[in-house]
Amino acid sequence: MASTSLAHLACLCGTIITPGTLLKDPEVPVGPQDTVKVNLHKYVLDTIDGGLTPLMLNLDDRQIPTWSAASQQSSNIPHDTILSLPRDSLKTLSPPKEDSYLQAKCHCGGVSLLVKRSNYTSNITADLPARYIPSDPAKWLSYFCACRSCRLSFGVSLTPWLLVLPDHVFNANFPTASDNTSSGNSDANLTTVTFGRLATEPGANTGLTLKHRWSSPDTVRSFCGKCGATISYWCEKRPDELDLAVGILRAEEGSMARRWLEWKWGQCSSTEESIDREICDSWVGSTEVMETTEVDRSGNR
Ligand SMILES: [Zn+2]
Ligand SMILES: [Zn+2]
Repeated sequence: MASTSLAHLACLCGTIITPGTLLKDPEVPVGPQDTVKVNLHKYVLDTIDGGLTPLMLNLDDRQIPTWSAASQQSSNIPHDTILSLPRDSLKTLSPPKEDSYLQAKCHCGGVSLLVKRSNYTSNITADLPARYIPSDPAKWLSYFCACRSCRLSFGVSLTPWLLVLPDHVFNANFPTASDNTSSGNSDANLTTVTFGRLATEPGANTGLTLKHRWSSPDTVRSFCGKCGATISYWCEKRPDELDLAVGILRAEEGSMARRWLEWKWGQCSSTEESIDREICDSWVGSTEVMETTEVDRSGNR
C-alpha cells in the first residue's frame, strides 16, 4: 500500500474538508457544530476498498467528486465504480488462516506490529462485556469513536479503532521477528508489545519508537515518537482490551481490512460529542449502503 495514502487511511475516506468555524479554546468542551464540509474525495484508490467514500457520494444537494489520486490531476471515478470497490477488493483473496498475522505499521516504520488473527473462544469471551465480542470469532470488532478526546488526539472527526486482546499484538521490530508476515513467524519467536503502565518502564518494547501520553489519569494513548502516528488507546477500566488504530493496518484488501475486522455498520461511540454532523451522520446511516456494497448481483456476499 502506498505510504502516501496513510494520512487518508487514518480517516478511511480520502475526504477533504473545508475549514469553517474552529474551536477557539480546545479546553472548552462545547464548541460550534459543523466545522467542516466535505467537498471532494481524493486519493480514493489509495484506500483500495473505497474506505468511507461510498457513504459520502451525495450529501444534501451536493454530488461529491471522487478523484483517484490528487484532485484535478487524476481521473474522477464514477460513483458506480466507487460502490463496487468494497466487494472487488475481496475478490481474489482468501480469508486469513488461523495463527496468521496482519502487519500494522506507522508511516516511518518505527512502530511495526503484527496483529494475530482473532480466534475468540468461549473461555476468552466469558469475561468480556457483550459489546466487545464479534459475531465472527475470526475477526476483531471495529468501530468509530466521535468523542472529543479522540478527535483532539487524532485530529479527525471520527476515529476508527479495532478492539484487540493485547496478547495478540506482537513487536515486529524485535530481533527474532521475521520480516515476512506471511510466513516465518509464530508466537514462539515473537514478543508481545507492552501497553499500559508497564510500557513506560526501561527496556519495554525493544526496537519500537512508541511514546505514551496519559490523556486522563487512567488512560494512556500511545503514538510513534518519530512520525507521530497514533497507535493505541488503553485504559485501566478494561486492561485486557486494547484499541488499536485502524489507520496503521496494512491489509491487502484495503483500508477497512474486511478480512480481519468485523465492522458494526452505523454504530459509533459518543455521537453526542461529534461536532461534524455530516460526517458522523454518514457513518450512522451506513448500514444499508455498506451491506449493499458487499453483495454481488447474484446476492452472494
Ligand atoms: Zn473516543
Ligand atoms: Zn513512525
